[in-house]
Amino acid sequence: MYSGECDVKKCEELQKYLTGKYCFLRRLVIGKTQLSRKIVAFTLSKGGLILAGAFHGAERITAMMLYKFLDEVCSKMDSDSKFYDAVIKTGLTVVPMVNPDSVEISCNGVHTAGNKAEFVSECLIKAGLPHKKWQANANGVDINHNFDAGFYHVKQRERELGILSPSPTRYGGEYPESERESSALCDLCRDSDYSLAVALHSQGREIYYDYGNNTPSESRKLAYKMAELSGYAVSHPQGIAVGGGFKDWFIEHFHRPAFTLEVGLGENPLSPDIFDTEYEKVTTMLWYLLDYTIMNKNADKDL
Ligand SMILES: [Zn+2]
Repeated sequence: MYSGECDVKKCEELQKYLTGKYCFLRRLVIGKTQLSRKIVAFTLSKGGLILAGAFHGAERITAMMLYKFLDEVCSKMDSDSKFYDAVIKTGLTVVPMVNPDSVEISCNGVHTAGNKAEFVSECLIKAGLPHKKWQANANGVDINHNFDAGFYHVKQRERELGILSPSPTRYGGEYPESERESSALCDLCRDSDYSLAVALHSQGREIYYDYGNNTPSESRKLAYKMAELSGYAVSHPQGIAVGGGFKDWFIEHFHRPAFTLEVGLGENPLSPDIFDTEYEKVTTMLWYLLDYTIMNKNADKDL
């Protein structure tokens, strides 16, 4: 059922499967993309932990990891009433695929961009890249450079790199949250009082935890614990990777911990063959953060 390759159709099948299997799992449509594809979230009560994946089309393996993790969490809730109560009390939301238009272009080709197909094709030709390398949304905006965290600094870096217009990757758009995908995710966070956020990307087997002066003191400790559990390395973004990302925005805006996990090693899109090995490493970290969020929620109650 879960493998290293996925597209929107496969995800729709999984949505039906999971909501049919677990009556307590709520599916929400938090927005629609430029090409009218649904941006879907799953929630097990409000607040707590939010996990998001597939910000970039060539990194769609992260969506499949989040679907599988969600299934495992729900399965444990089904069989363990204490755990069920803890998750419901704490809150968990999963947005497996933030950028479905990008996934379709990268996975199934330029024609999936509908009335944007010609534009997407021109962007690819200009950049000299094949469709499988497409990372942006259908407007040629890189969602993970479009969040409101050091945005004007990001734009300056883009100009230095000669990225002046829509592109398959790394063009941050005209202003923060100009894109439906980033604004849908921000609206969800602004409405939901999450205590911790995780963004899955690929690749590099790395953990990023800091952004500016608002990084909470516990973030570093959590990052090193995750590194110990998974064998991943704690890293600090360099160059154009500094700012503009979802994790950066979450830290800057809420002053709460947020992490980017760069899953797997190799060239994007990663080979589906690595799915099982990498899934084990990634979910050790996700389980750890879920337990930590639950523990913190209970500690709050005791005060
Ligand atoms: Zn990415």
